[in-house]
Amino acid sequence: MAHEEPDLMPGDDLEWLEGENSLTEVVDEEQLQDEAANAWLAAEEEYVPIDNGEGYLAVGGADAGSVVAALPAGSTVREVSSAPVVASRDDALSGDRPVYLVHHGARHANFLPIVMGDLHHKKGRSLTLGAIVNLPSAKAGKFTSFFRQASVAALRIADPQCYRLDDKILRLPPSPIGKRALEYAPYLASNDSPDWLRQVLDAQRAVSANLLLTPGRALNPDDPQKSLDSAFQQADQVLALTERGERVALNLTIPSRWLASGALRNRLLDEILDQDQFDVLYVRIQWAPSKAFTPTVDADLLMGIRRLANLCVDEGRSLLLPQSGITGWLALAHGATGFGLGVSGSEQAFTEHAFRRSQPGRQQAQRYFERQMLHTVDRSAHDVIQNVGGYMNCDCAYCPALFDSQPWSHPLAALHHVYAMGVLTARVHEDSGRGGRHSAVRRIVAGARRWSSGLPLGSDDVPRHLPVWDQAL
Ligand SMILES: [Zn+2]
Repeated sequence: MAHEEPDLMPGDDLEWLEGENSLTEVVDEEQLQDEAANAWLAAEEEYVPIDNGEGYLAVGGADAGSVVAALPAGSTVREVSSAPVVASRDDALSGDRPVYLVHHGARHANFLPIVMGDLHHKKGRSLTLGAIVNLPSAKAGKFTSFFRQASVAALRIADPQCYRLDDKILRLPPSPIGKRALEYAPYLASNDSPDWLRQVLDAQRAVSANLLLTPGRALNPDDPQKSLDSAFQQADQVLALTERGERVALNLTIPSRWLASGALRNRLLDEILDQDQFDVLYVRIQWAPSKAFTPTVDADLLMGIRRLANLCVDEGRSLLLPQSGITGWLALAHGATGFGLGVSGSEQAFTEHAFRRSQPGRQQAQRYFERQMLHTVDRSAHDVIQNVGGYMNCDCAYCPALFDSQPWSHPLAALHHVYAMGVLTARVHEDSGRGGRHSAVRRIVAGARRWSSGLPLGSDDVPRHLPVWDQAL
């Protein structure tokens, strides 16, 4: 079955194509199999009041994550705490809290509003949540209801993924636009139509996105000027098509060479600097594959991301880095407004596709995100290091059930990961009083490096990014 998760590098082709194969079936099947996680969905509904007195946030049960104006009959209210007001889109983009974007992928998506509601309740004063769906991956109705439930998301982004058309520039899996993708995102077949840009926008509007994206066709590093001209020309046309109250982010998809090479980097940054009609940037970077859940250690690329983020903060632009995982979190230090991650390995980074033979019958890897280490390790490594002096047990709501359940609950491990990254994002804000976000991130990275050095880890679990990051900060 396609939901077997590849363990080793490279080429998460199964993950990439999951949305094309049988997205809903895969999710539902896993849901049935995981009793520990299903207990969360079946939990009793509980509500906490919203600070302004205008509604309640559901923090338990099947509607968790949604804000309701009035309490359903017979429901329980926890008055001991309250949840902050959900920020407006514009406040989210210009506010001082980092933006944490949660990607709706093929796996465990029905659990995401729970963890988002939980994060908003407990950390919403230090971060702003957003949600991203991929239009070619499922029917519009599925995304509309996801956005409706995840109403703690101040930003709703419906990514048109037009870069799927650019398999000559990016390294994509074979046939990146399958039959299902065409059914869900028919604009992918009509990019010659004079009406194309409107179709791309309408598809986003149809699922109630509140931050619209330009098509985001990939920029070709081998034909830079033509490619930049064409992307910005399309983006200008999109601006002309927007209506009152709508807001557009400039959507760029770039192979990492654009940021890692000095000449291309300068060209890209100069162009962004000149085109100041775009005050929100949504930049997806494709880099070389590494082991799943392992961030990039490419120092040139990290420098490029830093420059891009520095430029955005200097110029008062908001930079969002979708599908960037913990590498995107690092960019908060340099001025990025927000970053995105999801449940699967493919949602931690937009890596180049590389062929990988599937291995029938292989078990899905049992992974655990170690917050103290800023790294995802094999569960067996977790079992070892949790006994090392100074280890801090995670205090999220999912870990007790995760470690109690047999077999390993992949959804609960995913909820823990999404929550723990939210906590780290909030911490950047909470700790920014001394030296701003840069110092906050530097302290967290330095602490993780100190903690991790000398731990009894197998070579697959060593956090090799930490020394590189520590240097780069
Ligand atoms: Zn946890």
